[in-house]
Amino acid sequence: ITCYLGCWILFTTVPESALCKICKEEVELTSESVNRDSERVGPDCFELLTVLGKGGYGKVFQVRKVQGAQTGKIFAMKVLKKAKIIRNAKDTAHTRAEREILETVRHPFIVDLLYAFQTGGKLYLILECLSGGELFMQLEKEGIFMEDTACFYLGEITLALGHLHSNGIIYRDLKPENIMLNHQGHIKLTDFGLCKESIHDGAVTHTFCGTIEYMAPEILTRSGHNRAVDWWSLGALMYDMMTGSPPFTAENRKKTIDKILKCKLSLPPYLTIDARDLIKKLLKKSPAQRLGSSKADCADIQKHPFFRHINWDDLLNKRVEPPYKPQLQSEEDVSQFDTRFTRQTPVDSPDDTSLSHSAEHAFAGFTYVAPSVLESLKEGFSFEPRTRPVRRHNSSPRTPISPLKFSPAGPFKSSIDGEPDILSPTSPPAAPAPKPLENGTTTQPIRTPARNKKQKGQRR
Ligand code: ATP
Ligand code: MG
Repeated sequence: ITCYLGCWILFTTVPESALCKICKEEVELTSESVNRDSERVGPDCFELLTVLGKGGYGKVFQVRKVQGAQTGKIFAMKVLKKAKIIRNAKDTAHTRAEREILETVRHPFIVDLLYAFQTGGKLYLILECLSGGELFMQLEKEGIFMEDTACFYLGEITLALGHLHSNGIIYRDLKPENIMLNHQGHIKLTDFGLCKESIHDGAVTHTFCGTIEYMAPEILTRSGHNRAVDWWSLGALMYDMMTGSPPFTAENRKKTIDKILKCKLSLPPYLTIDARDLIKKLLKKSPAQRLGSSKADCADIQKHPFFRHINWDDLLNKRVEPPYKPQLQSEEDVSQFDTRFTRQTPVDSPDDTSLSHSAEHAFAGFTYVAPSVLESLKEGFSFEPRTRPVRRHNSSPRTPISPLKFSPAGPFKSSIDGEPDILSPTSPPAAPAPKPLENGTTTQPIRTPARNKKQKGQRR
């Protein structure tokens, strides 16, 4: 951080404050004081490595921090264009919601936000980089998941949704593309652009958004909805994981809506009794009859016999080994992402547009530094003066580098979630074999229906 006079060299006197060695000014180490510095935590602190994906308002890049705390670490940088956002007042609210939700919510299965900052024309979210890619990619590769694989993912997702609900947040946009895997293969929910806050018991919201195939009937009829919509989407996702497509699909949006509202659920015969029962209970068209709609919320779902083999405490603490460990050669490995994106040259053009005062006001307070970063700043202070970093001519952080740049294979450390995991470049463990179930049936290894590559685009 810098002191009030803008000097760079600081050292701590007590854990909560820092003293500038040059001007002797004392600076309290709070979110605000570091945020003052975050005029400097800006795009220049990050070297663009690769394009990972495209969002509604801009791109998501893999980046490396090249200045200050956590130098050298790999992150995902979600860039949103303010001009696109302010065209729609609701979108401004969604963007603020995403930043606020990510600040509020800390959970093992929800993406971590490390920094947020803005320039004249853009908003930036620096997130932990989820190098396992989208769950969709895995589902696309496999066609369908065996029941124990699905059970693991659905269990982690249930815990994440339950945590959001307990914080008054409805996720509303549960679909395979928004469910990502970290380098170990654990679930991470991303994309909080469509969430809505303050939905505690009894309150309903009326905004129509999300992706149609996984959407609950009450969202489509705009009859007001509550957190039970997420349990519908969990049911639709469960159906998709186990059969290869969502439960109600048609050639166009209108027909899909009709099916969701009116059609009876049809379940393929190979699903086990418990899987069928859970899907049926989650896909109840009436939200009041849906499993999870009571005050107990996720606890009712966790008790369902489909999850009877799960030790929830172990699952929450990541003591259950994920069914697929992403095959990664290095921390920068982007092999789990679509080459349509990763082959692009990563460019984030500077945008210092000045918006009108009222438009600018919409983004006031966007800047953020995670408490974990503040902690590491406090711990990392040395009594040795640090010199001002010198920018090398040929390695400007904004200079695009080849997306195919590859660091040598080998073990690397990730401490984003505090777990000192060494990723080995060896093959991942095979998916667990189907387990016999108590009712005498087995989890199904069935013929894998080919998942149509185009589906992803169509679903959006
Ligand atoms: P929005 O509704 O906010 O516009 P979006 O769907 O357009 O959301 P995201 O889902 O947040 O945008 O991101 C787009 C894509 O970028 C994702 O599908 C994913 O492939 C990639 N991505 C997003 N966040 C991360 C992350 N933390 N780590 C790695 N890749 C990510
Ligand atoms: Mg998304």
